[in-house]
Amino acid sequence: MSSIRLENLNKIYSGPNGGIVAVDDVNIDIEDGEFIVLVGPSGSGKSTILRMVAGLESVTDGRILLDEEDITDRKPKNRDIAMVFQNYSLYPHLTARKNMSFGLKMRGGLSFDKINERVENAASIMSITDLLDKMPNELSGGQKQRVALGRAIVRDPQAFLMDEPLSNLDAKLRTQMRTEIQLLQNNLDVTTIYVTHDQTEAMTMGDRIAILDGGQLQQMATPLEAYYEPNNRFVAGFIGSPSMNFIDVYVDWSGEPTLEHETFSYETSPRIRDAVDSTVDRVTLGVRPEDIDVADKSTANTIEVTVNVTEPLGKEQIIYFSLDGQSYTGSVSGHQNIPEGGTVHLRFPTERVHLFDYATGEAILNCVLPEDDEQQQFSLSVGEGATS
Ligand code: ADP
Repeated sequence: MSSIRLENLNKIYSGPNGGIVAVDDVNIDIEDGEFIVLVGPSGSGKSTILRMVAGLESVTDGRILLDEEDITDRKPKNRDIAMVFQNYSLYPHLTARKNMSFGLKMRGGLSFDKINERVENAASIMSITDLLDKMPNELSGGQKQRVALGRAIVRDPQAFLMDEPLSNLDAKLRTQMRTEIQLLQNNLDVTTIYVTHDQTEAMTMGDRIAILDGGQLQQMATPLEAYYEPNNRFVAGFIGSPSMNFIDVYVDWSGEPTLEHETFSYETSPRIRDAVDSTVDRVTLGVRPEDIDVADKSTANTIEVTVNVTEPLGKEQIIYFSLDGQSYTGSVSGHQNIPEGGTVHLRFPTERVHLFDYATGEAILNCVLPEDDEQQQFSLSVGEGATS
């Protein structure tokens, strides 16, 4: 077990039109035994970071420390880190047992009996004892991934690196393996860096998540911090499903300040007034679909909209509505009868809204934290959909 520190990590690939900055000055401190998820859209630099930690990719600038030791230029085989890949990377001509023992045999220093004991132990942890003598082509995708995880466990490494290990599995198996990997990591207590583009996977698995965009670290936070207190519009939009709605508005300071949109005028609360500098005349209003309420009638701060489409999900329903030609999403009680094409009055509760700098996207104001049982609130809010 070990801590991992990424210090001012940079990776520039050479491309036909100059350098491609894949990783841009990333700093991440990972504690001993922590489960960190690197999450972000495709091309945000996640795999490149993981591959640099594994030693499979050179570092352009910066340092990687494993338990305070600089391993930046160390060969992969001298890093004592086990990597699990999306495509399993099993040797096709070797049985599961031999796949699992291969690395240990190559490394030397362990007796045949000792290696066998480790393989049996890892197989029992992964519930694959009865598959040990099968060839990879006799195994299902889920079984292959178990063997690949078993092979990582056998090495008893200082850290696990996992690159989208579940993305080749079907949805049900993915959910099951997600829980298993979490339990495994809890039990073995091995420092783990896990890469995914799926925000639900990140939210449910990570002790902390590192959200990346364009090679830059946008926020390093617990899942709930990222959800309730995003640093910026990117994080706010990436974390949570369906995504947060963003509405660009003007601030009218002429009387009691209001947020003005072509289709509505939003009265501010003291909390909002205190957060916005009086020189600012444009902001982006952020409201999560699950924070939108349906009001009985038009009152202060309700917005009349036409519902284009409703998607009943049982307890909730997703409604799609337009404001000034732009489409937005609400997640409201499934018991309300909301006809498609009908009009409803929606309320954006002032304690739930976020405000972002119109130009930079930096958060100016985040929602008020729910007072009790954040966990419960959170489980109501985060859906299953993958964001890619
Ligand atoms: P992610 O894992 O988040 O999808 P990557 O780390 O694979 O992102 O890629 C980050 C950026 O680096 C992308 O713009 C990608 O095109 C570029 N990149 C990755 N590998 C190479 C390479 N071997 N040569 C050139 N560019 C690369």
